Amino acid sequence: MGRNDRGRGAWALFPLNLHPKSYIIPRMANKRTDYISWDDYFMAVAQLSAHRSKDPNTQVGACIVNEHMRIIGIGYNGFPMGCSDDVLPWSREGDFLDTKYPFVCHAEMNAITNAANKQGLDGARLYVSLFPCNECAKLMVQVGIKEVVYLSDKYGDDPVFVAARKIFKLAGVRLRQLEPSTREINLLLDVE
Ligand SMILES: [Zn+2]
Repeated sequence: MGRNDRGRGAWALFPLNLHPKSYIIPRMANKRTDYISWDDYFMAVAQLSAHRSKDPNTQVGACIVNEHMRIIGIGYNGFPMGCSDDVLPWSREGDFLDTKYPFVCHAEMNAITNAANKQGLDGARLYVSLFPCNECAKLMVQVGIKEVVYLSDKYGDDPVFVAARKIFKLAGVRLRQLEPSTREINLLLDVE
């Protein structure tokens, strides 16, 4: 094969007198441009898992992501494993033992405990629809979560959330309120 024959096929992109990196590789024209961002995607996964919650008042979802943009834990608020949803109370008022508060596991706790590889949580980022409480903040710090991305902070003045902010600040956990670029995602489950 003569030297000139190299101009054929794949080598046509890279003439011998040019380094490959000096060439601009043309982009494909058929890529979708309205795909959702990583932030919106992970928050949407958190929101989707919130749909599993049985809580009639507050449905929260959480999604933990590692540095490779891989989801490593998902959870939503619910009662501990094996505890019937029909036996424990969902009430917010009344005697302490007649409310959900002593029994419910928050979405962040469940996302952490659902993670198959607990060591993988070190350095991870957690997406959650509602700003975490102090109990979840402690747990998140202890497993090494380094960033929290949240949607709503509507109870921010409540002492448990003030304490959570203090914990995150002292522990060096970054906090970021997400302003989604996608307001609504429609999912179809009745694919024809
Ligand atoms: Zn919590």
